[in-house]
Amino acid sequence: MTARIVKVSGPLIVAEGMADVKVYDVVRVSKERLIGEVIELRGDRASIQVYEETSGLGPGEPVESTGMPLSVELAPGLIEGIFDGIQRPLVTIRDTVGERISRGIELPSLSRDKKWDFQPRAKVGDRVSGGDILGVVQETALVEHRVMVPPNVAGEVTWVYAGEATITEPIARLKKDDGSEIELPMLQRWPVRIGRPYATKRAPAEPMVTGQRVIDTFFPVAQGGVAAVPGPFGSGKTVVQHQLAKWAEADIIVYVGCGERGNEMTDVLMEFPQLRDPRSGEPLMKRTVLIANTSDMPVAAREASIYTGITIAEYFRDMGYRVAIMADSTSRWAEALREMSGRLEEMPGEEGYPAYLSSRLAEYYERAGIVKCLGSEGREGAISAIGAVSPPGGDISEPVTQNTLRIVKVFWGLSAQLAYSRHFPAIDWLQSYSLYTDRLSAWYTEQVGPEWNAMRNEAMALLQQESELQEIVRLVGVDALSLRDRLVLETTRSIREDYLHQNAFDEVDTYTSLTKQEKMLGLILDFHHQADDALDAGAYFRDITKLPVREKIGRAKYIREENLSEFDDIQRQIRTEIGELLAAGGLKDA
Ligand code: ADP
Repeated sequence: MTARIVKVSGPLIVAEGMADVKVYDVVRVSKERLIGEVIELRGDRASIQVYEETSGLGPGEPVESTGMPLSVELAPGLIEGIFDGIQRPLVTIRDTVGERISRGIELPSLSRDKKWDFQPRAKVGDRVSGGDILGVVQETALVEHRVMVPPNVAGEVTWVYAGEATITEPIARLKKDDGSEIELPMLQRWPVRIGRPYATKRAPAEPMVTGQRVIDTFFPVAQGGVAAVPGPFGSGKTVVQHQLAKWAEADIIVYVGCGERGNEMTDVLMEFPQLRDPRSGEPLMKRTVLIANTSDMPVAAREASIYTGITIAEYFRDMGYRVAIMADSTSRWAEALREMSGRLEEMPGEEGYPAYLSSRLAEYYERAGIVKCLGSEGREGAISAIGAVSPPGGDISEPVTQNTLRIVKVFWGLSAQLAYSRHFPAIDWLQSYSLYTDRLSAWYTEQVGPEWNAMRNEAMALLQQESELQEIVRLVGVDALSLRDRLVLETTRSIREDYLHQNAFDEVDTYTSLTKQEKMLGLILDFHHQADDALDAGAYFRDITKLPVREKIGRAKYIREENLSEFDDIQRQIRTEIGELLAAGGLKDA
């Protein structure tokens, strides 16, 4: 019996006669062959989410199963690609059929015509298994694509190709243990809802350095870690994401955009391709995969997009790369989940989101991490996941933010108020946190310096003290404070303005190495300690705050990475000026 539609409800259709399909199988719906995925089965009745516009569909139309779960294509051609939530190639589609995706379109995700220069690494006679590298293709100027034996395949290499090939042409032949031979092309497929296998996962132990001082110093994310950033409108979320994409220690960027309004995503599609990779000078797209859901695409595709994104990220992780995946925003994704759940008439949980919202979020973030990859080489690869959330009205008590915060280990709280006062990046140091700090402290001690952890703790303690002191000032005025407290306020102003404030658009300030971060923070704290001692020795507070070296401290962020010795000069100047102040006898009466 052929399967037939019995009901259409927006992106959800119900079909009967589906006894031989499985949940998550891809189906083709109606004569137009729209792409759908089975999300629920009851007897021979299937609920199917359709990834394309369903208007005009009606009961009685045929549904055909492909017998395959929703999968992505993995091969050269991913990098620089712009795909939708189910990996349809947006640029190719636009070039073939115009701006709007026509329904039922059947175009492969990756080009079947393009030839890649395959350079073999495996040799005839080698015994290989899942994850072993058969050969490499220079996919772009920045990415060497390592063509691997697919997981669950093993055998002896009986033939290997060298030279130009398309992704479907064979590049190697293996003789399996049962004696049969298989041909392997570069192209692999993987079902998006299942994590790709790895050998072992280990606990994150080093930071993913971003060159952004507030992040690296106070709220670091680990290589293989997970972070969330809420983005009230205008709070600088886009700039933070662009800075991370450009500067974070990641080889590959996967950016999953779920825009609400059509133009939001168009912005990303316009902006991202313009970004430059600062280290190589090449376009950033040369190491980026973009997944974009514009608002005119059905919600179901949005639901699939983060799985499509993370599967592609896992594929590059398996090659031994450090991948950063950014999902913007997971709130839009959760809304798609809510809409589908409503149509399935499931019992709604908090604010209408399904009860499985938190487990779905966890399933996504759990696929991040630092792993030993499959393959005899013992490569290590990492996925660091950064999820933007956009809580309505900036209220972070809502379910998507709360469920996300239970999973992620880092929270960069963007503050509309800081943005309003032009303090960028507007990451609120009192609200944000990183649960990696302790775990990374050994790394920082070894790589940055033995004093580093104490310095960052002291600076954070001062900032916390500042907010208490400000409360007192608000109530009774600054005169009520002791000189020592007033010095704290001077120092914290310096921490905020000279250190935390970082101009993404200044050529030098846009990136600060950890070495320079340590020197910058060192200057500010050094001045604080010496000024404190000078107060003790009877110096005037007013004189201390007017010392010319303070201006130098304020401009230290513009010192180039190659001129870090200038920090020693400023350090000496602090000592000299405070020494002179005390020697000049400008001391207040005892
Ligand atoms: P959102 O995406 O949250 O709406 P944007 O990232 O577009 O906000 O930031 C809004 C504006 O704030 C930017 O156009 C820019 O002028 C300013 N801005 C944000 N972050 C920085 C930064 N790190 N340095 C300098 N200016 C910034």
